Amino acid sequence: MPFLKLNLLAQLNKSLVENDYINPTLIQEKVIPLILEKKDIIAKAQTGSGKTASFVLPLLQLWTNENYEGKAKIKALVLAPTRELALQISSNFEMFSKYLAKKPKIVSVIGGENLGQQLLDIQKGCDIVVATTGRLVDIINKKQLDLSKLEFFILDEADKMLDLGFEKELEILLEMIPTNRQNLLFSATYPTKIQNIISKITKKAIEVSI
Ligand code: AMP
Repeated sequence: MPFLKLNLLAQLNKSLVENDYINPTLIQEKVIPLILEKKDIIAKAQTGSGKTASFVLPLLQLWTNENYEGKAKIKALVLAPTRELALQISSNFEMFSKYLAKKPKIVSVIGGENLGQQLLDIQKGCDIVVATTGRLVDIINKKQLDLSKLEFFILDEADKMLDLGFEKELEILLEMIPTNRQNLLFSATYPTKIQNIISKITKKAIEVSI
């Protein structure tokens, strides 16, 4: 199977086959090896390019390789502009985790759902949070989110997030997370205001376009 050349774990390859992912898309082929090498990435990719799996698969692999013990702490934070996209990302994490011996606990922090329940789910122990920016800021303001162990920060559809006016919230969030982390940013377009936020997120990213 052509996905094999990307050196993903056998358990991940099994879920790929099960979901009819036979050939990696261009973005997956380019980005997966770089993420596995722990590089920061700025990727220009449209919806429909397969960008979701291009970060979900290597993140699951890195997370598995770290072999975390004890109570789950938030290791990865994925931000998306809309709840639909956040839910799609969460379901990709669940789908590709299916055959992992130890599965990460994934919590979606999105508007329109019960905030109390989302907080309880996080406090029970959570490895990966997939959030929309507005709801995340609500939770952070309540000081109920421990992001001190965060290692991976992912911004999906960054241009849409800025179009929705979340620049200030992003800046506040960036002040609250560890600086020593791997950053992955995906956007279909790169207007000037994105360059500004990118410079606050990472200075060492590899740029990938397809
Ligand atoms: P995305 O751009 O991540 O929203 O993905 C667009 C659609 O393509 C989704 O329905 C994915 O399930 C599907 N998809 C992504 N990568 C692959 C692949 N390598 N093989 C088959 N389907 C894929």
